[in-house]
Amino acid sequence: MPRFEYAPAPESTTIVDIQPSYGLFIGGEFVEPTDGGVMKSVNPASEEVLAEVAEAGPADVDAAVRAARSAYQRVWEPMPGRERAKYLFRIARIIAERSRELAVLESLDNGKPIRESRDADLPLVAAHFFYYAGWADKLGHAGFGSDPRPVGVAGQVIPWNFPLLMLAWKIAPALACGNTVVLKPAETTPLSALRFAEICQQADLPPGVVNIVTGAGSTGAAVVEHPDVDKVAFTGSTEVGRQIARAVAGTRKRVTLELGGKAANIVFEDAPIDQAVEGIVNGIFFNQGHVCCAGSRLLVQESVYDELLASLKRRMATLRIGDPLDKNTDIGAINSRVQLDRIRTLSEIGEQEGAQPWSPPCELPERGFWFAPTIFTGVTQAHRIAREEIFGPVLSVLTFRTPDEAVAKANNTPYGLSAGIWSDKGSRILAIADRLRAGVVWANTFNKFDPAAPFGGYKESGYGREGGRHGLEGYLA
Ligand code: NAP
Ligand code: MG
Repeated sequence: MPRFEYAPAPESTTIVDIQPSYGLFIGGEFVEPTDGGVMKSVNPASEEVLAEVAEAGPADVDAAVRAARSAYQRVWEPMPGRERAKYLFRIARIIAERSRELAVLESLDNGKPIRESRDADLPLVAAHFFYYAGWADKLGHAGFGSDPRPVGVAGQVIPWNFPLLMLAWKIAPALACGNTVVLKPAETTPLSALRFAEICQQADLPPGVVNIVTGAGSTGAAVVEHPDVDKVAFTGSTEVGRQIARAVAGTRKRVTLELGGKAANIVFEDAPIDQAVEGIVNGIFFNQGHVCCAGSRLLVQESVYDELLASLKRRMATLRIGDPLDKNTDIGAINSRVQLDRIRTLSEIGEQEGAQPWSPPCELPERGFWFAPTIFTGVTQAHRIAREEIFGPVLSVLTFRTPDEAVAKANNTPYGLSAGIWSDKGSRILAIADRLRAGVVWANTFNKFDPAAPFGGYKESGYGREGGRHGLEGYLA
């Protein structure tokens, strides 16, 4: 097939000033860790060190929780909602104003294409703050009683796949409801959270309302286990989610868990095939497939299997993989070597178990962490690649004959976060959606997010909802 040659179109990085090292953001200031160490954050597309960040120890986490408690009691909880709203609107506006800088920083630290950080992550981050700013003075009309109270100090732990967006999902509703927070970003992507700390300073947010403690899993555990944390909000793997559920069992802490997924993307024979192919590609290759709600299991009706697969392969051959900061890039770098190893291991297991991999011809850069977009055909429900979350650009393709079979296969998973349905018939979409055990069901689209829409899982995908009016509930007593 003839291919276009694209000239490089790299986004300039001069807009982002990265310091050589960062402290912890506690009580409105950057401070050195007292009992922690130092870790490095790298650019996964080049393996270059971007900055050193502090690794908070238990005494640092304790200082952050005390700062959050003090700010809660002194200023944030007593403040009228309409005043809190002003701060949230201010933060939202600053994020919008600084969105290019934040998008470049996010792509540098995470490896995601600039096209996505610029056009998806950052607009959603700002939208989330705008949305919850609007609730701050209307909580008495949200359906939780006439005068709902905040919970107190929230300990929040987030993953690396959407660093700033996950921060927004956690911090915006917590603050709108009058809580203060201690947030731990992921070890591999701490830089945008530290930039957010600077934005809190720029917005004159009262010191201690937001505290950012960088670190690894042990720092997260210290946040979760701190006795003066009233509410734990976690997004990450089901495995760590289980540990957290155990750690808070028997305490008075409230918990919400947003965990993994293995979503079915179901294509019926009456679906518009070209449109479905776009949705399949978006469903599994958006953000290198590092998406908890990724459409990682494609269920295709047998009668359109050949046509759809041919079309999907043609489309995949046009995907451009490489420099995340190039505006033409569709697929960026895998976030870390650890994650790359996980993807490779599961893909090898897929082959060993008898499924057939296919990738378009593509050259991967020499340095950095890369994995070619891959589909596996000949996958059965017993295969591990059909059951376990790969969290990478790898799609497992299965087939079905009848709608009942599609529903049974879609629901045959320990997860239940999201699903997709492709069909020309509205009645079929509604009937099938009703029978899917998934928190979000997209129809003739995929991976669409809106701050007004609740998001969350069934079964091992966790409990509690983020986003929308539902997202307030976890932060109100
Ligand atoms: P992870 O290992 O569970 O890590 C998530 C966060 O928890 C990180 O900040 C991590 O720190 C921290 N952590 C690790 N061990 C901990 C412990 N014992 N106690 C407290 N915190 C701890 O998950 P991941 O591999 O980074 O992220 C991928 C997973 O997140 C996938 O399974 C994906 O489906 C899920 N996810 C879910 C959603 C959702 O909304 N449902 C959204 C995005 C991602 P370190 O960074 O230092 O390891
Ligand atoms: Mg990094």
